[in-house]
Amino acid sequence: MLKQYIFILSLLITFTVFGLTAQRYIGFFRMTRPAFRVRDIGRRFGIMMEVALGQTKIFRRPVLGLLHALVFWGFCVILIGSIEMVIDGVSGTEKALSFLGVVYDVIMASGDVFALVIAVAILVFLSRRLFLHVKRFSGIEMKHISHLDANIALTLILLLMISLLGMNTFYIRAGLEAGKELQGIYPVSSLLAARLSTGLNTDLLIHGICWWSHILLIFIFANYLPYSKHFHVFMSVPNVFLSRLEPLGKVDIMENITREVKIMMDPEQAFASPPEGVEQAGSSEQAVPERFGILDVEDVSWKSYLDSLSCTECGRCTAACPANITGKKLSPRKIIMDVRARMREKGPGLVKNGREFTDGKSLIRDYVSPEELWACTLCNACAQECPININHPALILGMRRYLVMEESAAPGELNAMFSNIENNGAPWQFSQEDRLLWAENITMNVTE
Ligand code: SF4
Ligand code: SF4
Repeated sequence: MLKQYIFILSLLITFTVFGLTAQRYIGFFRMTRPAFRVRDIGRRFGIMMEVALGQTKIFRRPVLGLLHALVFWGFCVILIGSIEMVIDGVSGTEKALSFLGVVYDVIMASGDVFALVIAVAILVFLSRRLFLHVKRFSGIEMKHISHLDANIALTLILLLMISLLGMNTFYIRAGLEAGKELQGIYPVSSLLAARLSTGLNTDLLIHGICWWSHILLIFIFANYLPYSKHFHVFMSVPNVFLSRLEPLGKVDIMENITREVKIMMDPEQAFASPPEGVEQAGSSEQAVPERFGILDVEDVSWKSYLDSLSCTECGRCTAACPANITGKKLSPRKIIMDVRARMREKGPGLVKNGREFTDGKSLIRDYVSPEELWACTLCNACAQECPININHPALILGMRRYLVMEESAAPGELNAMFSNIENNGAPWQFSQEDRLLWAENITMNVTE
């Protein structure tokens, strides 16, 4: 009974801390802008199965991809065992899901094997980070804290797997010595149990220590994740489900601006019904956005903020970015990490004081420089490579829109082009009447 009380208390503390974290993030999401309506559920589900559960993008690098995929799939299986532990802990039962019979045997057996596979994979990942200088893991955005965070999370996962294997091994040993019928099949732990020799009392004690270590590590891990890059364990699947469905190169137009331009060119358009999601001019304050583009984190859409929380900091985007490869300052991973960091900094103030809150800083310039923004070719290689379908160009384009539309701060070449479009109806510096001058001689030659 005492064990149950202690367990329930630990569970309540876990849920309380997790609930406070969730409340904090919900508050941050409330400060973001609308993105799109979630439709095409069937298509989204297909993408989620393929990219998130199938890990298809990860397999572009076969060996490491397979290791990562095994870790992910293993987690999914082991999660069932963790749920059983919570049921056991609360109700005082042992192996509460064993009534599932053969299904239970399969789940326990695969969880046991996955525990070993994950432990090996994590050792490989840790070795790469600690002893090999992988270029993808470096960059100006990869501060000491980023590496420390990755190593802490990987170590926690390793400890989780060791405690799981220990728990299974000593469950088998203690059960066999006590003459109890074992529930579930444990291929790896059976081998380990056969090689260990301890006394009955010690087996029971070590099983108890492993059981408590494992469940407490899960509780700690669950509350550490939201503050770590490994938050993607929770966020990547929903983020892939909410992926952009349009072709990557398609640039989202600003409906309100498009409509204004159309009205300028054809006043009849003022009486046409506006496109979906755009209010009739003058019908609401919403017709005029508070600000064009993205200056700070409150201008970012909920989807871009979700992207930033889902980022694994793997660096595949930056490794594929032509601007970065050719020595420009731009790193798409940094842009995503900057949004997350900026919300962490400004979010509490926004939640407390409302969207008007300012701390004298902004995402543009204090985090992301115009030089980075204008280095982007909008080629979408970053979005293509990202294993969880993050849309970096949406953010870059939004910040550029702010610079152009609110500050007229485009590079000189673009400003010249904008003036030409305004004055000549074309990007070139010639008036419309002079456009065909180049063809005069050709015409004369044909006439002759
Ligand atoms: S879209 Fe921009 S940030 Fe992304 S890969 Fe291309 S140049 Fe780099
Ligand atoms: S944005 Fe995607 S590709 Fe880039 S570091 Fe994050 S998860 Fe990796």
